[in-house]
Amino acid sequence: MDYKTFYNFMLKLTSAFEKSKCRRDFILGLESAFAKILQVDSVKIYTLDEFSYVLKDFEKPWENFVDDCQNQKLHDVLNSFVGSKENTKFQDNIIYMPISEDTKILGVLKIVSDKKIDSDNDFFEISQLIQKQISYAVLNFKSSEKMKLNTKFHQTIRNIAKIIETQYELSYILPILGEMIDSFIYEHLIYIFIKNKNKKEFKLVWPANIKDSKIYGYLEKLSPKSGVLLERDGKVGIFPLLSEQKLLGAVVAYNPFDKLNQNEINYLDEISKQASVTIERAGEYMKILKDATLDALTGLNNRHQFTLRLSEQTASAKRQNTPLCCIMTDIDYFKKVNDTYGHAVGDCVLKNVARTIKKELRENDIPSRYGGEEFAILLPHTTLKEAELVAQRLRTAIEKKKINIEEYNIETTKQLSVTISVGVSLYDKKMKEASQLYQNADKALYEAKKTGRNKVVVYNG
Ligand code: GH3
Ligand code: MG
Ligand code: MG
Repeated sequence: MDYKTFYNFMLKLTSAFEKSKCRRDFILGLESAFAKILQVDSVKIYTLDEFSYVLKDFEKPWENFVDDCQNQKLHDVLNSFVGSKENTKFQDNIIYMPISEDTKILGVLKIVSDKKIDSDNDFFEISQLIQKQISYAVLNFKSSEKMKLNTKFHQTIRNIAKIIETQYELSYILPILGEMIDSFIYEHLIYIFIKNKNKKEFKLVWPANIKDSKIYGYLEKLSPKSGVLLERDGKVGIFPLLSEQKLLGAVVAYNPFDKLNQNEINYLDEISKQASVTIERAGEYMKILKDATLDALTGLNNRHQFTLRLSEQTASAKRQNTPLCCIMTDIDYFKKVNDTYGHAVGDCVLKNVARTIKKELRENDIPSRYGGEEFAILLPHTTLKEAELVAQRLRTAIEKKKINIEEYNIETTKQLSVTISVGVSLYDKKMKEASQLYQNADKALYEAKKTGRNKVVVYNG
């Protein structure tokens, strides 16, 4: 093998494990390294699960190894490396290498080439080096995953504690909890169940479907005093969600093959305790909020309050013959903020937009959170011309505002900006229903969205 080919190959190999963010990246990196010296069709790594001794695809450790025949073949190959000094085996167009740590064989690397491989291929000159490098890289990759897991665990605990500052509806909190736990328990499926108060049965609330209905049977064994249940030899973990000795529900971690290790059990136990506190407080919040007038996230009037203020203000405008305007705003492409940076950042943006709106308004203006990312503002004693100016001022202020999201540790950015689309309308005494005022503003807002966003449109009949 010439020096340059060797150099290029080693360079690619090193960057495969230095630069990859996930296991898929790592395998793709290996493929492109091997492409320097072989005609590669695919590269696969199978690692032995330390509890079940099943060989699993390195890229998809949560999956069953479905193909028994292939599994048997790989096991035979793996066994043939045990106690042997060999570092490659090849057959027609396939090369196998052991993944090892000292003398222990932990898995098999399988390279499939487009064409038959000859024994005098350059590859075999350096196969010992390749075998050592790749084994080292796989082990390294796994241990760095564990380290990241630790950091992520602490972040998750903090985030769960934080959700409640801004959200109180369980239908909103539970999916976020599910996603957070799921994102760091890598090899198990996560389910969240909530106990039905009256019927006593458990209802799956996240995700939408369950693979194995036997889990319901395990849940029945749960009691406020039972603690964590480990079923099926530790492959299924049931973590109770408790509040004052009452069972609220459960977090379930499930994998048909892998046992949960002690670290994961500790993590999940801790997270379930934190989640219990969050869920319990959400319940208390809900009770208080029944009589509330303010929106919990933004501190503006809530929608119910908006409706009351709308009828009060339209009645007054009619009686005193004074102008009344309504502004409706909607954040542009807000879903993308949630999808890109997560809901916690989405909430932070909502709070900031609300704060900016409030700051730009006068004392007598009445801002409300109308729905998700929509705000409605009533402007008493204000003409349409003036209201349009206010709307433009709001739009510019929000466009200019740099929202600090440092505390969310997003790698790519520390601040965000969003824009809003705005609709403006004027109250007319002839309107039969007060609601027509904001419906007109909403129509104008729709027009603003349709014609480019980040703009103000005034309703004119
Ligand atoms: P458009 O420019 O057309 O308005 O695009 P959009 O993505 O803003 O529109 P869409 O109505 O599809 O999305 C609104 C999103 O707002 C969907 C929902 O997930 C999100 N949302 C609603 N309420 C909340 C909330 O309280 N917190 C967070 N983080 N997101 C919310
Ligand atoms: Mg919307
Ligand atoms: Mg929107």
